[in-house]
Amino acid sequence: GATIELENLTKHYPGSAAPAVDSVSMHIDAGELVVFVGPSGCGKSTTLKMINRLIEPTGGRIRIGGEDVTDMDPVKLRRKIGYAIQSSGLFPHMTVAQNIGLVPKLVGWPKARIRARIEEMLDLVGLDPGEFHGRYPRQLSGGQQQRVGVARALAADPPVLLMDEPFGAVDPITRDHLQDELIRLQFELHKTIVFVTHDFDEAIKLGDRIAVLRERSHIAQFDTPEAILTN
Ligand code: ADP
Ligand code: ADP
Repeated sequence: GATIELENLTKHYPGSAAPAVDSVSMHIDAGELVVFVGPSGCGKSTTLKMINRLIEPTGGRIRIGGEDVTDMDPVKLRRKIGYAIQSSGLFPHMTVAQNIGLVPKLVGWPKARIRARIEEMLDLVGLDPGEFHGRYPRQLSGGQQQRVGVARALAADPPVLLMDEPFGAVDPITRDHLQDELIRLQFELHKTIVFVTHDFDEAIKLGDRIAVLRERSHIAQFDTPEAILTN
């Protein structure tokens, strides 16, 4: 993993009265799993998308592993950051293998290495490579799609993983299972993970630390689950 530092990170969408994210500063340790929990509309997704440079900040800085990435080419940033979203975000016209191989291909890995990596990633998320690599997303259950979404986010071995309600669209049993898998993955791979949810129980289960966000991503609390539960 790598550290993530946000310094006065701000997003003011054009035409809106107030900023969606207003001067957020935080330090996330390497290998830490931090959960952002807060009500719908408080700016969780916007914050995550700024770290990933899917959205340009209107103010502040972002550093990953000590390096300022606020102005880095977004394609270069794909080497550092994996991104997994609700309802998997898989490209429907691409097979499972093509979806997982997308970022490695984009950042220039050789073909043989990509092929091996696809198998390794499918194994990692508990899907049989022989059975699944040629399937299209529509031929997968919701839980399987989420697994492929996580495999794709991890494929280029980024030190940082951003997850935006990745298990929001699956049934409670599958969700519980995916949460356990994520804890295991985190234990094995030591990624720095920022995980967004509006579900407090999920935050308590997963987080090494939890950032409780209010409107405009104002941080009301940033502490361990134990400390938050006793306050
Ligand atoms: P959350 O992820 O916590 O639900 P978001 O980051 O999606 O919150 O949204 C934060 C605020 O920014 C909301 O008020 C939302 O309406 C607004 N917002 C999000 N995306 C845009 C956009 N593209 N243009 C204008 N306002 C937006
Ligand atoms: P879940 O309860 O996990 O949502 P589903 O009922 O969606 O599971 O699917 C059960 C099984 O059927 C899964 O192994 C899935 O891969 C398979 N499956 C679902 N839809 C298709 C399809 N269109 N083509 C091939 N296999 C499918």
